[in-house]
Amino acid sequence: MKSRGGASEKSPAPLKPLPYARQKVTRDDLKAVAKALKGERLTTGPILKEFERAFAAFVGSGCAVAFSSGTAALHAAAHAAGLKPGTEAITTPLTFAATANAVAYTGAKPRFADIDPETLTLDPEKVRQALTDSTKALLPVDYAGHPADLDPFVQMAREKGIFVIEDACHAPGALYKNRAVGQLADITVFSFHPVKHITTGEGGMAVTNSEELAHKLKTFRNHGIDLDADERDGKGLFTYDIAELGYNYRLSDINAALGLSQLSRIEENLKTRRRLAAYYLDALAPLSSLILPVEKEWAKSAWHLFTVRLKENPAGLERDQLLAKLRAEGIGAAFHYPPVHLMTYYRRNFGTGEGDCPVAEGAAKTLITLPLFHSMGKGDAKRVAGTLRALLGARR
Ligand SMILES: *Cc1c(COP(=O)(O)O)cnc(C)c1O
Repeated sequence: MKSRGGASEKSPAPLKPLPYARQKVTRDDLKAVAKALKGERLTTGPILKEFERAFAAFVGSGCAVAFSSGTAALHAAAHAAGLKPGTEAITTPLTFAATANAVAYTGAKPRFADIDPETLTLDPEKVRQALTDSTKALLPVDYAGHPADLDPFVQMAREKGIFVIEDACHAPGALYKNRAVGQLADITVFSFHPVKHITTGEGGMAVTNSEELAHKLKTFRNHGIDLDADERDGKGLFTYDIAELGYNYRLSDINAALGLSQLSRIEENLKTRRRLAAYYLDALAPLSSLILPVEKEWAKSAWHLFTVRLKENPAGLERDQLLAKLRAEGIGAAFHYPPVHLMTYYRRNFGTGEGDCPVAEGAAKTLITLPLFHSMGKGDAKRVAGTLRALLGARR
């Protein structure tokens, strides 16, 4: 993949458009995938197991179960937590729809609590107020790579005997109070979509320290069949049973080979993202019309996204106008996310709407995601900062 899309017609020598995120695939990745394709098993084989072991080691969790997408992993986690019709789960409205969709897949009711105005992650106090006897799971999201304030959620869950499923699709490598994300919740979910820190094309991972939950996750991934093919063969079993409905949510060994190869560079990717974020924080600090992202003293962000919020500015620009102007300059600025509780499906089926989560609704009107990815250069970041300074009429 080279540049995507046409160049602006006005500019004689257009710069290559900069996306907000992009994967990086190396020669080593290509070699690893080619080798996998020549192997005996294209799915549920040794490379998948190795990828799971290596990922579990990376986050320091007991067990990792790979899935065909992060969404599939969230669905499996929701099932493993016992979500079903008649139960509820509480999550944040400022997330990719997959977090709440995964709850809805199980027939449980997704409920939304408002976010903390600083970190834009789920506000523990708001969650406490939303708890009911039907609440079976809490789903905090590590928005933009900054961990949610996990201790209060874990404590609430312990008190009530329910589960915390952390959507860490933005946050592999993030730290919460010096502990790695992936060690704190009952189940933590990651995604390997191409915009994320490492990619398998499509793919995801659920990690847990509970053997019981890991078993549920594996069974759900494979139609609800209690044993995988290897175990069956090992035991000379030619039949199997299904006690609960599952899906085919497996990740192939081809994808796992890409993931395993990419995983060897994740620390490097994190370093690059942290360096670029530090540059943005410094270069954009003089722009008084922007609210910059924070990193709390108890957190180390994985910097999946660099999001800023637009205040009133001398140029009189609204968020959508600024987005359009950045895009006209070849800067693929984006917006994460339209609040999930305002989506038609959620309004219609769960009675959510305007006013439910004022902090998230307010933030969502002003948020802008600037390009940030690990194959991006400092020159790219300089161009973004310079363009913003020019557009927002900063006095430097
Ligand atoms: C990427 C992402 C997911 C999962 O996405 P998949 O494309 O299914 O891997 C879930 N939640 C959040 C917050 C995400 O960013």
